[in-house]
Amino acid sequence: MTEIGEVDFSIGLSDVANDQGEKQGTIVSFNDVTILEKRREELLYTMRSLQNSRDMIKEQNEQLKILATRDPLTNCWNRRSFFDEFNLLWQETEKENGCLSAVMLDLDHFKTVNDNHGHAMGDDVLRTVSREILDMVRSVDIVCRYGGEEFCILLPETTLEQAKNFAEMFRKRIESLSFNHLKITASQGASSSVLGAKEPEELLEQADKALYLAKKTGRNRVVSADEMPANLDFKDATVSSQ
Ligand code: GH3
Ligand code: MG
Ligand code: MG
Repeated sequence: MTEIGEVDFSIGLSDVANDQGEKQGTIVSFNDVTILEKRREELLYTMRSLQNSRDMIKEQNEQLKILATRDPLTNCWNRRSFFDEFNLLWQETEKENGCLSAVMLDLDHFKTVNDNHGHAMGDDVLRTVSREILDMVRSVDIVCRYGGEEFCILLPETTLEQAKNFAEMFRKRIESLSFNHLKITASQGASSSVLGAKEPEELLEQADKALYLAKKTGRNRVVSADEMPANLDFKDATVSSQ
């Protein structure tokens, strides 16, 4: 006895009629579509594998983008990607006649944290502070690790007054943190596009000068770029890492 494997059929029915149109019978046809069916299943399998590979590539690309744009210690934007985003925001703000604010935030006496408690503790402080800032900002805001212990926060559609309030909120939260009894504070400078900056770098320069004044006048405070005395000497203003 010959064993016949599984066979797929398609069944066709067609009526047969005489010249008067009277039905005489029905032709039943069986078409062996085994190979066709097999090919269809193979095609489905290939398409599914292709979709899986596509999903995997998409996921990997997203991971790569995160790796390329974020600072690994703090998960904040790195400086290069930050400026790409900043330029886009700047153009949008100009087009819509909007208001873009920036806050420069620098941790106070951070060198002594490393010196007195070790570099690992310093890293821990940086991680925690940035997590807190990221937690406080809105989804439209951009938090960049601008230098070692310095952050720049871009606040779209935010007035200078609102930016100062944001900075004050950061200041209070950072001051409230405790690392095995070690306390941390931050000084900040705030500026806004309404103060007339012609380009992104100028906005940061204004915020940076305000930060410089915050350091000079006692630290753990927020200074706004509209509060700057005209005769302030910036000869030794090297607060920001460039
Ligand atoms: P100021 O209040 O004037 O800002 O004083 P400061 O000590 O914070 O500023 P300074 O620029 O003198 O020192 C910054 C320190 O930040 C020195 C550097 O070792 C430390 N730092 C920078 N990046 C990192 C980092 O990724 N991890 C750790 N642990 N420390 C860092
Ligand atoms: Mg510092
Ligand atoms: Mg610094």
